[in-house]
Amino acid sequence: MSSGRAPIPLSLPFLDEREHELVNEVLDSGRLSLGPTGRRFEQMLAEQVGARHAAAVSSGTAGLHLLVRSYEIGAGDEVITTPFSFASSTNCFLYEGATPVFVDIDPVTWDIDTAAIEAAITPRTKAIVTVDIFGYPCELDPIKDLAAKHGLAVIDDACEALGAEYKGKRVGGHGVPAVFAFYPNKQMTTGEGGIVVTDSEEQWRLVKSLSNQGRGDDGPWLEHVRLGYNYRLDDLSAALGVAQLEKLDRILELRSQVAERYRSLLAGLDGVELAAADDAEHHRSWFVFVVRLAPGIDRERVIDQLTKEQIATSRYLPCIHLQPYMRERFGFAEGLCPRAEALSSSTVALPFYTALEAEDQERVAAALKAAVEAQG
Ligand SMILES: *Cc1c(COP(=O)(O)O)cnc(C)c1O
Repeated sequence: MSSGRAPIPLSLPFLDEREHELVNEVLDSGRLSLGPTGRRFEQMLAEQVGARHAAAVSSGTAGLHLLVRSYEIGAGDEVITTPFSFASSTNCFLYEGATPVFVDIDPVTWDIDTAAIEAAITPRTKAIVTVDIFGYPCELDPIKDLAAKHGLAVIDDACEALGAEYKGKRVGGHGVPAVFAFYPNKQMTTGEGGIVVTDSEEQWRLVKSLSNQGRGDDGPWLEHVRLGYNYRLDDLSAALGVAQLEKLDRILELRSQVAERYRSLLAGLDGVELAAADDAEHHRSWFVFVVRLAPGIDRERVIDQLTKEQIATSRYLPCIHLQPYMRERFGFAEGLCPRAEALSSSTVALPFYTALEAEDQERVAAALKAAVEAQG
């Protein structure tokens, strides 16, 4: 397949006949929303991550927003979070008027620096939003302890971490409400979509109601017991999700193999640092393959060179506090989170997906090596 110069995309979903079959079943059934497939998808996902309840929603962002609503986080509240993430993990509480308090990242894991959280807590702190960035699980136990000590809510943005394990148990199964996302570049996809997992039946019922226009459990269709949203996931998307969950373990295993192949191809390459490896307590679920370039290397030149060779890349991730709307609204500037800022300006995401072929990976590795060595 991979003729020398064919473009190599950044990501691709992993689909087969089963997705067609299950989506067609839903089409033939006529139950395109609020049908049995949505429920089946929720139950399968809850079981696979080890959570009691799951509520499917229209996106990861919607799920995060609903957890924020479930804790009544709003104006006057501060929320502690990481700047090295996708904008959603902060936007979800900005929607409710809460104020972000950014804590810098851990230099090794690139997740929030657990040891720096306590110093950021004030009488106004209401919650901590953690992010398992690039699928590497954050320090859930000490963060849970800290939150309990100070009476704070914890929301885990696990949108990049389906299948990641912390202390031998999957993220989502640690009693911390979490959200997974299913945009097509994630480990698995429903097109658009997301899911909230929680061990609390009350929180689950609230999230279900909020996602369904604020309807009550079993009231009449046109009765709204609270202000809600239309954040439902339709059953066609849920059918895609069921087909993906049926092969989730295979997907995760194939992604690990692709990552391992990159790690051995790039091992020992001067000027290129790889993301943290697993240890006894942390098992990454591979979402993207991001490398960090050494300070002397011009990232833009590397990206240009790869682009010329038809190899897609991305600058994962810009710091949230330095986004134009955040600077404008809160006056944030460079220097607030130096570790995240330095990382963010030196990372490159390479093509990474479940079915990425070895020869394409070799081409990517060779091109990266040439680009870096040209600057040496
Ligand atoms: C993908 C992602 C989300 C959610 O994205 P949606 O497009 O709304 O599904 C949230 N947070 C992080 C860190 C993500 O990577």
